Amino acid sequence: MRVDELPVDERIKRIIRERGIEELYPPQAEALMSGVLEGKNLVLAIPTASGKTLVSEIVMVNKLLREGGKAVYLVPLKALAEEKYREFKEWEVLGLRVAATTGDYDSTDEWLGRYDVIIATAEKFDSLLRHGSNWIEDVKLVVADEVHLIGSYDRGATLEMILSHMLGKAQILALSATVGNAEELAEWLDAALVMSDWRPVQLRKGVFHIGQLFWEDGGIDRYPENWESLAIDAVKKGKQALVFVNTRRSAEKEALSLSSKIARLLTKPETRQLDELVSSIEDNPTTEKLKRALRGGVAFHHAGLSRAERTMIEDAFRSKLIKVIVATPTLAAGVNTPAFRVIIRDTKRYAGFGWTDIPVLEIQQMMGRAGRPKYDKVGEAIIVARTEEPRRLMEKYIHGKPEKLFSMLANEQAFRSQILALVTNFRIGNFRELVSFLERTFYAHQRRDIASLEYKAKNVVYFLIENGFIDMDMNDRFMPLPFGKRSSQLYIDPLTAKKFKDAFPKLENNPNPFGIFQLIASTPDMATLNARRREMEDYLDLAYEMEDKLYTNIPYYEDSRFQGFLGQIKTAKVLLDWINEVPETRIYETYNIDPGDLYRILELADWLMYSLIELYRLFEPEEDVLNYLRDLHLRLRHGVREELLELVKLPNIGRKRARALYNAGFRSQEDIMRAKVRDLLEVEGIGMKVVEGLFRHFGVEMPKGAKKDSKKAEKARKGTLDAFLK
Ligand code: ADP
Repeated sequence: MRVDELPVDERIKRIIRERGIEELYPPQAEALMSGVLEGKNLVLAIPTASGKTLVSEIVMVNKLLREGGKAVYLVPLKALAEEKYREFKEWEVLGLRVAATTGDYDSTDEWLGRYDVIIATAEKFDSLLRHGSNWIEDVKLVVADEVHLIGSYDRGATLEMILSHMLGKAQILALSATVGNAEELAEWLDAALVMSDWRPVQLRKGVFHIGQLFWEDGGIDRYPENWESLAIDAVKKGKQALVFVNTRRSAEKEALSLSSKIARLLTKPETRQLDELVSSIEDNPTTEKLKRALRGGVAFHHAGLSRAERTMIEDAFRSKLIKVIVATPTLAAGVNTPAFRVIIRDTKRYAGFGWTDIPVLEIQQMMGRAGRPKYDKVGEAIIVARTEEPRRLMEKYIHGKPEKLFSMLANEQAFRSQILALVTNFRIGNFRELVSFLERTFYAHQRRDIASLEYKAKNVVYFLIENGFIDMDMNDRFMPLPFGKRSSQLYIDPLTAKKFKDAFPKLENNPNPFGIFQLIASTPDMATLNARRREMEDYLDLAYEMEDKLYTNIPYYEDSRFQGFLGQIKTAKVLLDWINEVPETRIYETYNIDPGDLYRILELADWLMYSLIELYRLFEPEEDVLNYLRDLHLRLRHGVREELLELVKLPNIGRKRARALYNAGFRSQEDIMRAKVRDLLEVEGIGMKVVEGLFRHFGVEMPKGAKKDSKKAEKARKGTLDAFLK
């Protein structure tokens, strides 16, 4: 179907044609003719990169131009929100306004009311629903990207609840990878279903086994024995490869190994550009390895890297500077990074107690990354058989069907939190109403067994009443209590809130960072680190050393909580180091963690610390304890000792610069306001930009001649040992 023939506003067609798209792909045409343009719900289950986004753009813009209101586009990851934001911005020429929102779960974000297209992570939108933002009423369309994540253990329930809330109130467009039971999903959503295997770039799949590559069509190619030859061969052909492995450490190891071989294939300008890229990366033990790999045109990509580094790698791969990425599977679910050849080195992963097969759905998503539209006629996806029988892999992953999706609503943690929200934020008045809401969920639709759901819900309601989240009056009507309402808005697990509440009396008697951090680490909302076997004794010693600071007893060795507890002690110690200004690099080395891990711990601890304070405020707080907690929160946010709290409030002053200023004698904002520009510039890490920012912040004019001073100071610094070592 030609774009011209689309029954939508001319302006929409013009913008699509300006992108160079004249003809719609067959599944796109089918989707757009399914009734979705007239307001019918749609489940669109087609492979990655076959143009789902364009369909959703057309549906959104068409709807907004015709009917006004708002469209919400749900994504699973922050990085995807940014990617979509950049793409959708293009529609602003039609007078629509686009916004993306991801962090801060305790806000109504009324500012979003001014926007027409709102891109949000599912968790963020769920929190906005709970806060009852005014603009939610105007939402006419919800697009759920990657809706197959309904089957994800820890995130599925959120997406399912959002759709249950919005079903009937807004049009729903659900975008999915190919799954085993798309029909069931479509039935639940009362939606048309468009399903197809059609891809813009043909996909050829095969299994590699000790030098032999068996294609699904029966062809056999021969290569050197090691699977690495597949990646090297792709680069020799002037193409790129994406390798999936199952652990961070193998990603790093394989990237380094490939790098030494691929370096030889690079041109001089490429080597130079890669060197430039390398020099822009911050130093730490993880990036040290990354830099070595990058010099040979290879990168690893995993959750241990910072987001900035991951984005940098994705961009450099898309621009073809990086030839091979060795990634953990998180990349397959992330932003668009297609490659000519996808090599799947591992089809098993370690899950708690042993090795399990990676689901077909996930392997197919990895394979779907093969083939770059516009550059490749065919993409190749190759699974490496290392310990497995090649035929089994072919049957399971290449000829096999992806798994069915199962509702994860009744997962205990998610269910607790969702039921609390229904009572405190969504005005569910009694148990009967609760059950009738639950009947609208995918869980009820799929299991057709409302009795078991009712039973589970009853247990949760008892738990919520027992612990003061909600109450029930004489007529069995639910009464939301402030503690419940606030816990739900803070978007924390009720169990986390309960742990906090139980600890308040002890905390009031003995407020201290280690106790508070261990408490935070003991909640189900925290990404607590694991204590490795050889570390266990050290952390047990530490726990005993700090016993009088803890708000909980040290469990016995036989206790099932013992190992988890040591992980909490380890996590608390990391946070303690952080607020005592231990340099990041030392933290990575001491605890054997990556920058991405530290970042995630800090982000979660920040949110939980905020929640702890907010909940404490509900229980007749003592003013000095409250102030203590607020200071500790700031220390946690900035990673500093108390004496730097005043300085880190200044613009562009983080923990390093604040420490340098303090040590140079600038101990308060007042000291800085009075300082000479020249003296400030003498301080390590303080350049002209920072000084200008400070002056602007204080509302003071820069003294004349300051720029000249700055040159002198920089010159002076050039002769120092520090400058030399840089
Ligand atoms: P998906 O969302 O299914 O993963 P995308 O919507 O990101 O896929 O599409 C992948 C690429 O294909 C994008 O660069 C997009 O511009 C392009 N594309 C989409 N539809 C068409 C089309 N009909 N003709 C040519 N290119 C298209």
